[in-house]
Amino acid sequence: MSPDTGKKLELCPWLKKLPNQNKYICDIYHDRPDDCKYYPVTIEQMIKDECEMLEAQDLVKPKLAQKTLDKLMADSRPPFEPED
Ligand code: SF4
Repeated sequence: MSPDTGKKLELCPWLKKLPNQNKYICDIYHDRPDDCKYYPVTIEQMIKDECEMLEAQDLVKPKLAQKTLDKLMADSRPPFEPED
């Protein structure tokens, strides 16, 4: 939500397009919120967000994909612990 207008933002205000390139950067990368540091947490979340890093095998074997994701993100966030 914009603190100025109270309306839902379409994009994060810290997302900046690099001049003359088709690339974007986070303007506060080293101080970004934990939600950003920990993303993505689950394969389900990646599917919902249509993450381009998903591979076809991740959809066939989502539990294995989750274990792989947890290993990849081990240094960035606490592991996802599914509810019983
Ligand atoms: S990492 Fe987080 S703070 Fe940075 S641009 Fe993306 S959504 Fe915004």
